[in-house]
Amino acid sequence: SSLEGVAVVTGGNKGVGLAIVRGLCKQFKGHVLLTARNEENGKSAVELLKTEGLNPIYEQLDILSNESIDKFKSRIEKNYGGIDILVNNAGIAYKRASTSPLIEKAHVTLQTNLFATLAVTNTLLPHMRNGSHICMVSSMTSKLKNVSQDKDHPVRQRLIDPSLTEEGVLSLMREYLIAVDNNDYSIWPKDSPYSLSKVAITAVTRAIGRKLANDPRGIIINACCPGYVDTDMTSHRGVLTPDQGAVTPLMMCFIPSKGSNGEFYMEEKMYDW
Ligand code: NDP
Repeated sequence: SSLEGVAVVTGGNKGVGLAIVRGLCKQFKGHVLLTARNEENGKSAVELLKTEGLNPIYEQLDILSNESIDKFKSRIEKNYGGIDILVNNAGIAYKRASTSPLIEKAHVTLQTNLFATLAVTNTLLPHMRNGSHICMVSSMTSKLKNVSQDKDHPVRQRLIDPSLTEEGVLSLMREYLIAVDNNDYSIWPKDSPYSLSKVAITAVTRAIGRKLANDPRGIIINACCPGYVDTDMTSHRGVLTPDQGAVTPLMMCFIPSKGSNGEFYMEEKMYDW
Protein backbone atom coordinates (compact mmCIF):
# COMPACT_ATOMS: atom_id res chain seq x y z
CA SER A 1 0.00 0.00 0.00
CA SER A 2 1.04 3.63 -0.40
CA LEU A 3 1.55 3.84 3.37
CA GLU A 4 4.42 1.38 3.28
CA GLY A 5 8.00 2.46 2.75
CA VAL A 6 9.53 2.31 -0.72
CA ALA A 7 13.21 1.94 -1.63
CA VAL A 8 14.54 2.15 -5.20
CA VAL A 9 17.93 0.96 -6.46
CA THR A 10 19.11 1.65 -10.02
CA GLY A 11 21.25 -0.98 -11.74
CA GLY A 12 20.05 -3.52 -9.17
CA ASN A 13 20.55 -6.64 -11.27
CA LYS A 14 24.21 -7.26 -10.46
CA GLY A 15 27.35 -6.10 -8.69
CA VAL A 16 27.17 -3.47 -5.96
CA GLY A 17 23.55 -2.61 -6.88
CA LEU A 18 22.35 -6.18 -6.31
CA ALA A 19 24.14 -6.23 -2.94
CA ILE A 20 22.50 -2.91 -1.98
CA VAL A 21 19.09 -4.41 -2.83
CA ARG A 22 19.95 -7.45 -0.68
CA GLY A 23 20.97 -5.19 2.22
CA LEU A 24 17.82 -3.06 1.91
CA CYS A 25 15.64 -6.19 1.92
CA LYS A 26 17.23 -7.04 5.26
CA GLN A 27 17.44 -3.56 6.83
CA PHE A 28 14.49 -1.60 5.41
CA LYS A 29 10.86 -2.17 6.33
CA GLY A 30 8.88 -1.75 3.12
CA HIS A 31 8.98 -2.46 -0.59
CA VAL A 32 12.42 -2.74 -2.16
CA LEU A 33 12.34 -2.09 -5.90
CA LEU A 34 15.16 -3.80 -7.79
CA THR A 35 15.29 -1.81 -10.99
CA ALA A 36 17.19 -2.87 -14.10
CA ARG A 37 17.19 -1.89 -17.75
CA ASN A 38 17.04 -5.51 -18.88
CA GLU A 39 13.91 -7.36 -17.77
CA GLU A 40 15.42 -10.84 -17.95
CA ASN A 41 18.46 -9.84 -15.88
CA GLY A 42 16.31 -7.93 -13.39
CA LYS A 43 13.87 -10.80 -12.92
CA SER A 44 16.60 -13.40 -12.49
CA ALA A 45 18.25 -11.19 -9.84
CA VAL A 46 14.89 -11.08 -8.01
CA GLU A 47 14.68 -14.88 -8.26
CA LEU A 48 18.21 -15.21 -6.84
CA LEU A 49 17.29 -13.05 -3.82
CA LYS A 50 14.08 -15.06 -3.35
CA THR A 51 16.23 -18.18 -2.90
CA GLU A 52 17.81 -16.28 0.01
CA GLY A 53 14.38 -15.68 1.56
CA LEU A 54 14.22 -12.03 0.45
CA ASN A 55 11.43 -10.39 -1.49
CA PRO A 56 12.41 -7.48 -3.77
CA ILE A 57 10.14 -6.34 -6.61
CA TYR A 58 11.43 -5.99 -10.18
CA GLU A 59 10.74 -2.70 -11.98
CA GLN A 60 12.08 -1.79 -15.43
CA LEU A 61 14.26 1.33 -15.44
CA ASP A 62 16.79 2.26 -18.10
CA ILE A 63 18.28 5.50 -16.87
CA LEU A 64 19.34 6.44 -20.42
CA SER A 65 15.70 6.40 -21.61
CA ASN A 66 13.46 9.33 -20.70
CA GLU A 67 10.47 7.20 -21.67
CA SER A 68 11.54 4.47 -19.24
CA ILE A 69 12.12 7.04 -16.47
CA ASP A 70 8.70 8.64 -17.06
CA LYS A 71 6.92 5.28 -17.05
CA PHE A 72 8.71 4.32 -13.84
CA LYS A 73 7.67 7.61 -12.27
CA SER A 74 4.04 6.95 -13.27
CA ARG A 75 4.14 3.51 -11.66
CA ILE A 76 5.60 5.06 -8.49
CA GLU A 77 2.71 7.57 -8.42
CA LYS A 78 0.06 4.95 -9.12
CA ASN A 79 1.32 1.94 -7.15
CA TYR A 80 3.47 3.32 -4.35
CA GLY A 81 2.71 6.99 -3.79
CA GLY A 82 6.25 8.05 -2.94
CA ILE A 83 9.85 7.07 -2.30
CA ASP A 84 11.75 6.83 1.00
CA ILE A 85 15.13 5.70 -0.33
CA LEU A 86 16.65 6.30 -3.77
CA VAL A 87 20.02 4.73 -4.54
CA ASN A 88 21.59 5.99 -7.77
CA ASN A 89 23.95 3.09 -8.33
CA ALA A 90 23.77 2.44 -12.09
CA GLY A 91 26.99 3.41 -13.81
CA ILE A 92 29.43 2.42 -16.52
CA ALA A 93 33.18 2.39 -17.02
CA TYR A 94 35.12 1.57 -20.15
CA LYS A 95 37.75 -1.09 -19.61
CA ARG A 96 41.31 0.19 -19.42
CA ALA A 97 42.09 -1.88 -22.53
CA SER A 98 39.27 -0.24 -24.50
CA THR A 99 40.38 1.16 -27.85
CA SER A 100 37.29 3.37 -28.22
CA PRO A 101 38.16 6.97 -29.07
CA LEU A 102 38.37 9.31 -26.10
CA ILE A 103 35.58 11.49 -27.55
CA GLU A 104 33.21 8.51 -27.46
CA LYS A 105 34.33 7.42 -23.99
CA ALA A 106 33.84 10.92 -22.58
CA HIS A 107 30.36 11.49 -24.03
CA VAL A 108 29.04 7.99 -23.28
CA THR A 109 30.46 7.88 -19.74
CA LEU A 110 29.11 11.29 -18.78
CA GLN A 111 25.76 10.52 -20.38
CA THR A 112 25.13 7.57 -18.05
CA ASN A 113 27.09 8.45 -14.91
CA LEU A 114 26.09 12.12 -14.78
CA PHE A 115 23.31 13.31 -17.09
CA ALA A 116 21.09 10.20 -16.90
CA THR A 117 21.67 9.84 -13.15
CA LEU A 118 20.47 13.42 -12.67
CA ALA A 119 17.50 12.86 -14.98
CA VAL A 120 16.37 10.03 -12.67
CA THR A 121 17.04 12.07 -9.54
CA ASN A 122 15.19 15.16 -10.74
CA THR A 123 12.23 13.22 -12.15
CA LEU A 124 11.78 11.34 -8.88
CA LEU A 125 12.60 14.26 -6.55
CA PRO A 126 8.96 15.50 -6.37
CA HIS A 127 8.02 12.02 -5.09
CA MET A 128 10.63 11.83 -2.34
CA ARG A 129 8.85 11.68 1.01
CA ASN A 130 9.52 13.58 4.22
CA GLY A 131 12.80 12.46 5.76
CA SER A 132 13.75 10.42 2.71
CA HIS A 133 17.31 9.59 1.62
CA ILE A 134 19.17 9.76 -1.68
CA CYS A 135 22.43 7.82 -2.03
CA MET A 136 24.66 8.78 -4.95
CA VAL A 137 27.15 6.01 -5.70
CA SER A 138 30.24 7.97 -6.68
CA SER A 139 33.85 6.80 -6.39
CA MET A 140 37.21 7.43 -4.76
CA THR A 141 38.15 8.69 -8.22
CA SER A 142 35.87 11.69 -7.56
CA LYS A 143 38.49 13.31 -5.33
CA LEU A 144 39.52 16.81 -6.39
CA LYS A 145 43.16 15.82 -6.65
CA ASN A 146 42.17 13.78 -9.72
CA VAL A 147 41.24 17.05 -11.45
CA SER A 148 44.61 18.57 -10.55
CA GLN A 149 47.10 18.38 -7.69
CA ASP A 150 47.12 22.20 -7.76
CA LYS A 151 44.56 23.64 -5.32
CA ASP A 152 44.39 26.87 -7.34
CA HIS A 153 43.60 25.08 -10.58
CA PRO A 154 40.68 26.90 -12.31
CA VAL A 155 38.46 23.80 -12.52
CA ARG A 156 39.06 23.00 -8.84
CA GLN A 157 38.24 26.61 -7.96
CA ARG A 158 34.91 26.36 -9.75
CA LEU A 159 34.11 22.99 -8.18
CA ILE A 160 34.68 24.18 -4.62
CA ASP A 161 32.77 27.46 -5.07
CA PRO A 162 30.14 27.26 -2.27
CA SER A 163 27.57 28.93 -4.54
CA LEU A 164 28.01 26.30 -7.29
CA THR A 165 24.61 24.96 -8.39
CA GLU A 166 23.64 21.72 -10.09
CA GLU A 167 23.28 23.65 -13.36
CA GLY A 168 26.77 25.09 -12.76
CA VAL A 169 28.23 21.58 -12.49
CA LEU A 170 26.43 20.53 -15.67
CA SER A 171 27.69 23.51 -17.64
CA LEU A 172 31.23 22.89 -16.39
CA MET A 173 31.02 19.31 -17.61
CA ARG A 174 29.58 20.43 -20.95
CA GLU A 175 32.68 22.62 -21.25
CA TYR A 176 34.78 19.53 -20.57
CA LEU A 177 33.02 17.64 -23.39
CA ILE A 178 33.61 20.53 -25.80
CA ALA A 179 37.28 20.56 -24.77
CA VAL A 180 37.49 16.80 -25.50
CA ASP A 181 35.80 17.33 -28.89
CA ASN A 182 38.46 19.97 -29.63
CA ASN A 183 41.29 17.81 -28.27
CA ASP A 184 42.07 20.68 -25.89
CA TYR A 185 43.50 19.46 -22.60
CA SER A 186 44.91 22.79 -21.47
CA ILE A 187 42.86 22.69 -18.26
CA TRP A 188 41.39 19.15 -18.21
CA PRO A 189 43.07 15.87 -17.31
CA LYS A 190 43.38 13.55 -20.29
CA ASP A 191 41.87 10.08 -20.58
CA SER A 192 39.88 10.20 -17.35
CA PRO A 193 36.21 10.67 -18.28
CA TYR A 194 35.17 8.11 -15.64
CA SER A 195 36.94 10.03 -12.85
CA LEU A 196 35.47 13.30 -14.08
CA SER A 197 31.96 11.81 -14.23
CA LYS A 198 32.35 10.90 -10.56
CA VAL A 199 33.94 14.26 -9.64
CA ALA A 200 30.79 15.77 -11.14
CA ILE A 201 28.52 13.41 -9.16
CA THR A 202 30.21 14.33 -5.89
CA ALA A 203 30.05 18.04 -6.84
CA VAL A 204 26.39 17.82 -7.80
CA THR A 205 25.59 15.96 -4.57
CA ARG A 206 27.02 18.92 -2.66
CA ALA A 207 24.99 21.37 -4.76
CA ILE A 208 21.74 19.40 -4.35
CA GLY A 209 22.48 19.05 -0.63
CA ARG A 210 22.66 22.86 -0.35
CA LYS A 211 19.43 23.24 -2.35
CA LEU A 212 17.59 20.64 -0.25
CA ALA A 213 18.61 22.42 2.96
CA ASN A 214 15.71 24.77 2.11
CA ASP A 215 13.24 21.97 1.30
CA PRO A 216 10.68 21.38 4.07
CA ARG A 217 10.71 17.63 3.41
CA GLY A 218 14.13 17.21 5.06
CA ILE A 219 15.52 15.04 2.27
CA ILE A 220 19.08 13.84 2.89
CA ILE A 221 21.44 13.29 -0.04
CA ASN A 222 25.04 12.07 0.25
CA ALA A 223 27.60 10.55 -2.10
CA CYS A 224 29.87 7.62 -1.39
CA CYS A 225 32.46 5.24 -2.72
CA PRO A 226 31.71 1.54 -2.28
CA GLY A 227 35.44 0.71 -2.21
CA TYR A 228 37.27 -1.43 -4.78
CA VAL A 229 34.72 -4.18 -5.37
CA ASP A 230 34.83 -7.52 -7.17
CA THR A 231 32.27 -6.90 -9.95
CA ASP A 232 32.06 -7.00 -13.74
CA MET A 233 33.07 -3.33 -13.78
CA THR A 234 36.45 -4.09 -12.21
CA SER A 235 36.83 -7.33 -14.20
CA HIS A 236 36.62 -8.98 -10.77
CA ARG A 237 39.91 -7.44 -9.63
CA GLY A 238 38.27 -5.61 -6.71
CA VAL A 239 39.22 -6.74 -3.21
CA LEU A 240 35.80 -6.35 -1.56
CA THR A 241 32.81 -8.62 -2.08
CA PRO A 242 29.70 -6.85 -3.43
CA ASP A 243 28.10 -7.21 0.03
CA GLN A 244 31.13 -5.48 1.59
CA GLY A 245 30.93 -2.81 -1.11
CA ALA A 246 27.28 -2.21 -0.24
CA VAL A 247 28.01 -1.29 3.39
CA THR A 248 28.79 2.42 2.88
CA PRO A 249 26.00 2.95 0.28
CA LEU A 250 23.56 1.34 2.76
CA MET A 251 24.81 3.67 5.49
CA MET A 252 23.81 6.62 3.23
CA CYS A 253 20.22 5.28 3.25
CA PHE A 254 19.88 5.53 7.03
CA ILE A 255 21.72 8.74 8.02
CA PRO A 256 19.74 10.37 10.86
CA SER A 257 17.58 13.40 10.11
CA LYS A 258 19.96 16.04 11.45
CA GLY A 259 22.94 14.24 9.94
CA SER A 260 25.18 15.14 7.02
CA ASN A 261 23.88 16.50 3.74
CA GLY A 262 25.83 16.79 0.48
CA GLU A 263 28.86 14.99 1.87
CA PHE A 264 31.14 12.26 0.50
CA TYR A 265 31.73 9.00 2.39
CA MET A 266 34.19 6.17 2.00
CA GLU A 267 34.78 3.17 4.26
CA GLU A 268 31.80 4.30 6.40
CA LYS A 269 33.51 7.64 7.15
CA MET A 270 32.95 11.18 5.92
CA TYR A 271 35.86 12.34 3.78
CA ASP A 272 37.24 15.70 2.79
CA TRP A 273 36.71 16.11 -0.92
P1 NDP B 1 28.65 -3.34 -12.66
O1 NDP B 1 29.17 -3.07 -14.01
O2 NDP B 1 28.85 -4.68 -12.05
O3 NDP B 1 27.11 -2.99 -12.56
C1 NDP B 1 26.63 -1.78 -13.09
C2 NDP B 1 25.13 -1.77 -13.00
O4 NDP B 1 24.67 -0.54 -13.59
C3 NDP B 1 24.49 -2.91 -13.80
O5 NDP B 1 23.34 -3.34 -13.13
C4 NDP B 1 24.15 -2.22 -15.09
O6 NDP B 1 23.10 -2.83 -15.82
C5 NDP B 1 23.69 -0.87 -14.54
N1 NDP B 1 23.52 0.11 -15.61
C6 NDP B 1 24.43 0.61 -16.46
N2 NDP B 1 23.83 1.44 -17.33
C7 NDP B 1 22.52 1.46 -17.00
C8 NDP B 1 21.37 2.12 -17.54
N3 NDP B 1 21.46 2.91 -18.61
N4 NDP B 1 20.18 1.93 -16.94
C9 NDP B 1 20.07 1.12 -15.86
N5 NDP B 1 21.10 0.46 -15.34
C10 NDP B 1 22.31 0.62 -15.90
O7 NDP B 1 29.33 -2.22 -11.74
P2 NDP B 1 29.52 -2.11 -10.15
O8 NDP B 1 28.48 -2.88 -9.45
O9 NDP B 1 30.94 -2.34 -9.86
O10 NDP B 1 29.28 -0.54 -9.96
C11 NDP B 1 28.12 0.00 -9.34
C12 NDP B 1 28.40 1.46 -9.07
O11 NDP B 1 29.52 1.58 -8.19
C13 NDP B 1 28.76 2.27 -10.31
O12 NDP B 1 28.17 3.56 -10.24
C14 NDP B 1 30.26 2.36 -10.23
O13 NDP B 1 30.76 3.48 -10.94
C15 NDP B 1 30.47 2.47 -8.74
N6 NDP B 1 31.80 2.11 -8.27
C16 NDP B 1 32.24 0.82 -8.37
C17 NDP B 1 33.50 0.49 -7.90
C18 NDP B 1 34.02 -0.91 -7.95
O14 NDP B 1 35.16 -1.14 -7.49
N7 NDP B 1 33.28 -1.87 -8.48
C19 NDP B 1 34.40 1.50 -7.31
C20 NDP B 1 33.83 2.82 -7.25
C21 NDP B 1 32.57 3.09 -7.71
P3 NDP B 1 23.41 -3.94 -16.99
O15 NDP B 1 23.68 -5.23 -16.29
O16 NDP B 1 22.14 -3.94 -17.79
O17 NDP B 1 24.60 -3.43 -17.76
